[in-house]
Amino acid sequence: MKMKKVLSLLAAGAFAVFAMAGCGSDNGAAPAGDKQAKVLKVGSSIDFPPFEFQDEGQKEYQGFDMDLIRAIGKEMGREVEIQNLGFDGLIPALQGKSVDVVISGMTINDDRKQNVLFSEPYYQSGLTMVVREDEQAIKTFADLKGKKVAVQIGTTSAAEVKKLDGVEVKELNTPADCFMELKAKGVDAVVNDRPVNDYFITKNAAQGVKTLEEKLTAEDYGIAINKDNAELQKEVNAALKKLKENGEYDKIFAKWFGEKK
Ligand code: GLN
Repeated sequence: MKMKKVLSLLAAGAFAVFAMAGCGSDNGAAPAGDKQAKVLKVGSSIDFPPFEFQDEGQKEYQGFDMDLIRAIGKEMGREVEIQNLGFDGLIPALQGKSVDVVISGMTINDDRKQNVLFSEPYYQSGLTMVVREDEQAIKTFADLKGKKVAVQIGTTSAAEVKKLDGVEVKELNTPADCFMELKAKGVDAVVNDRPVNDYFITKNAAQGVKTLEEKLTAEDYGIAINKDNAELQKEVNAALKKLKENGEYDKIFAKWFGEKK
């Protein structure tokens, strides 16, 4: 009997501590509110090396974009919290305000500008194509007529390849899925961003595939921001400018791509 009472008192005490802890971290209290505002919630599709990726057994997301957004957050005095989302879910996440910004090798284009704001461009990219090493029939984009091509869903690659005449487009979730499909001969080519194709070929020990020189497009990457948040766009641009001026951007660039040409 007595023991039971002690236990229930202990339980009540534990509950009270728990409830108080809950109060301090999440609900209402002013300092917690300040802390909340300081967190910059970032959305990214962590499947795009060398811009955003996660090595097996590693906790931290890494890549050019990850270093850049952490440096931008630091410049803004805000803690950075990165959420891994599917590429086609990034703009909806911004619109639904579950993230403040998106950095994900995202190309600035007019289509997207109808839904989000973009920072100043931070990286020049473009689309190239990867085929199997023994491929003889495909040397240029014009040769894709009558062929099957894998692209990542929701990307500029998907949009651009759909414009080509007589191409069968297979939209998959990640670039890695596209490369796997190419190797498995489910498609004849992969169209994807040049730096990611190059990284895949050189760093990933990709055997049996090659990247072609021709570029389908030239594109600039930008950090996307909710359409209502012009203030945040200004802050991000100011931080980016500062990092370009103080050499930090060049350092991050050199880390992932070698010295700037
Ligand atoms: N740059 C391309 C786009 O914006 C692909 C980006 C990505 O797959 N992460 O659509």
